[in-house]
Formats: sequence, C-alpha cells, structure tokens
Amino acid sequence: MNHKHKKRFGQNFLHDNNVINKIVSSITPKEGEELIEIGPGQGAITMPLLTKAKKLTAVEIDTSLIEPLQQKAADIGELKIVQADALTVNLAELATSEDKLRIFGNLPYNISTPLIFHFLKFRHHIADMHFMLQKEVVDRIAAPPGNKTYGRLSVMTQYYCKAEHLFDIGRNSFYPPPKVESSFVRLIPFAREHKANDEELFANIVLHAFNQRRKTIRNSLSRLLTAEQIESCNISPTARPETLSVEEFIRLANFSSK
Ligand code: SAM
Repeated sequence: MNHKHKKRFGQNFLHDNNVINKIVSSITPKEGEELIEIGPGQGAITMPLLTKAKKLTAVEIDTSLIEPLQQKAADIGELKIVQADALTVNLAELATSEDKLRIFGNLPYNISTPLIFHFLKFRHHIADMHFMLQKEVVDRIAAPPGNKTYGRLSVMTQYYCKAEHLFDIGRNSFYPPPKVESSFVRLIPFAREHKANDEELFANIVLHAFNQRRKTIRNSLSRLLTAEQIESCNISPTARPETLSVEEFIRLANFSSK
C-alpha cells in the first residue's frame, strides 16, 4: 500500500520486528481483554496484538488508513476502528464490558503530553497504559525529584500512576525516522490514589510551582501560600520545585485547602 506519511498526524510507522515483539511481550494481551489502541497507523502493533487478543478497538484520526487496516485484520480477528481525535475521545464509551481498559499505542509525538493528560481523566476506567513516546518525555514522566527533567508532567503522572520506563528504541526502527529517540513506558493507575483533598488546587499548585522553575517556591507560590504556611508543611520556602516530592506537593495543597 502506498500511504503518504502525514507529518501533521505524527506518522512515523514502526517496522522493526524486534521492537514489535518486545512491545507485544510487554503488553502480554489475553483473549477477552478490553484492548484499546491509539493511532494504529498501518497496523504494525495492531495485527500481532490482535492475533493474540482476537478482539481490539483502535482510535485513528486518519480516514485513509481505516479501510486498509480493516482488510489486514479481516483474517486475524475482530478489529473495531473508531475514526476520532484521541485528544477528545471518551475512552469510557469505548468499553464493551465492565472490565477496565488496557490502552496502548505508539503515540503521535507532537501531541503526546496533552494526550496523556486527557487519558488520565479516565484513570478510573483504565487497568494500564503502554506507550511509545519521545525518550525525553518518558524521562520526564519517570523522573524522581531532584532530577533535572523532573517537572509538572512527572508530578501529575506519578500522582495518578506508577510509571515504569521499559526500554529505548532508536530512530531507525521507524519509517520515516523521527528526529528524536523513543522509549516505551508502562503506566498503571493506582487503585488507591494519593489524597489531595482538592485535586484542582493540587494541579494548580504544581502548575504555578513549575511555571517558574528557577524560582523558589516562596516566590512562585506567593499568590497561593505565604512563606510561613509553606514552612508549617515542613517544607523549606526557599526550595526549588524540582526538589519537592509528590507527597510534599500534596501537603501544600491540603494545607491551602483547609
Ligand atoms: N501504531 C503505528 C505504528 O506503530 O506504526 C502508527 C504510529 S504513528 C507514530 C501515530 C499514529 O497516530 C498515526 O497512525 C496517526 O495517524 C495517528 N494519530 C495522529 N494524531 C491522532 C489523533 N489526534 N487521534 C488519533 N490518532 C491520531
């Protein structure tokens, strides 16, 4: 099939069988599971996973890919393709049973961070997520406090999920090769979540703290908390945001919501 790769849809198709096999064994799909793929493209990981799972739902924005995917899947299993923008799709509505969803995909890199924030809204419906992303984004997701890549994305994903960096993938495993290296990550939403009394306020504090990354939290949070209030949470007001753990951000949010 002659498909012209669409840059605007972040189309870099995987063709490396070693990587495809590693992805399949990381996900270890089983028959009957609620598997949802984001961006199946030409089916590089869709078909091997469908072979094992027999049934799968995929969300694809590019209409020109849908018919060829249906044809490829015909002899393999039941592939349901939803033509939609994954940034606005209601994941909960894609479930065909009460079971939690297993979301996976080689995500379009240009929108990977907003996609993750969107999927996190459906965390109560999700068993796990496996994504191929830019290495730099996976590094940020999984970074511990004190690391130079630790930031808003790290705190917000680690608040909701256990994040595991699984392996790296070179540029030449894709066609066309992307400009950056990639990594594969597993995110498992916590059954018992951390407890911020007001999650909106928590997210707001994290946002403000990292908006001015180089400033001390006394300065960046000055409109939300005084230095004395920060101190009373057992946190130094002169600390920089990248040194604060998720728990410490929760403490600040819970103090401020009292
Ligand atoms: N899974 C395929 C593979 O590994 O070869 C394709 C991966 S490619 C990096 C990203 C895929 O996501 C493309 O098929 C692209 O058309 C699709 N895509 C891009 N933006 C999307 C969006 N907003 N919603 C759903 N799919 C999207």
